[in-house]
Amino acid sequence: MADRDFAGKTAIVTGAASGIGAAIAAELAARGATVIASDMDADGLDQLVADITAAGGTAHARVADVSEPAAMEALVTFAGDKGGALHMAVNNAGIGGPQVPIGEYPLDGWRQVMGVNLDGVFYGMRYQIPAMLAAGGGSIVNISSILGEVGRRAAAPYTATKHAINGMTKVAALEYSSKGIRINCVSPGFIATPILTKNLPQEEIDKLAALHPIGRIGTSEEVSALVCFLLSDRASFITGSVHMVDGGYIAQ
Ligand code: NAP
Repeated sequence: MADRDFAGKTAIVTGAASGIGAAIAAELAARGATVIASDMDADGLDQLVADITAAGGTAHARVADVSEPAAMEALVTFAGDKGGALHMAVNNAGIGGPQVPIGEYPLDGWRQVMGVNLDGVFYGMRYQIPAMLAAGGGSIVNISSILGEVGRRAAAPYTATKHAINGMTKVAALEYSSKGIRINCVSPGFIATPILTKNLPQEEIDKLAALHPIGRIGTSEEVSALVCFLLSDRASFITGSVHMVDGGYIAQ
């Protein structure tokens, strides 16, 4: 049985129906949080909530598109209705976008990646922060990437959004750390989730594994462990920083 150190706390997780977001939602619930699980995938959310409930946890599903500000505002209201107040948020929803060099990049693909990966994190914090101030403080983790540190061919908008999330997170921490809200980024290396496996053949995934000094790609649970540490009171002096969980990728 996990330590229930998040008992009495309410957490929003975006992109919770799949991959890293689902693992974070499950760990938060196992540690006692009321989880507001949000995604565009209603069936995936229903499955997640059923799994969490069967394991003895508490979760509520809310279909919301992170690129729509009204949906992000309504998500925070929903969290208050279900959990009483908002204490934690993980802005995790993200998409890879087309894998094409810049000179050929589809214009609608650029906008779509910007809308989900960058606007989505902004809209999330825009409405989560006032709710956390009202609750007396909180903690936010924005999911970035190793591609917030370095570039990767054929991933211009994704790389741009992840660099931008790091900068925006630092600004938010400057603005709100003295008001009781800690805000950090977690930057995974390549992780075995649908965003990766949907887009790449196994041969390419094996090549990616070889790029990590640890010799493999990571798991969603390995990312969740770091996210939940940063959300917890054990990380009480950590804010405004970017934390790798990357098997050594960025150390090279
Ligand atoms: P994933 O398995 O594809 O999960 C992402 C979830 O977000 C999906 O359920 C997706 O729904 C949902 N989503 C997409 N667009 C959305 C929107 N507009 N509003 C709300 N939800 C939306 O991906 P993942 O690998 O867990 O990625 C989670 C985060 O980690 C992303 O920010 C990603 O950039 C980051 N990350 C991943 C890796 C990796 O190697 N996997 C590495 C570094 C960083 P649909 O399935 O319906 O699209």
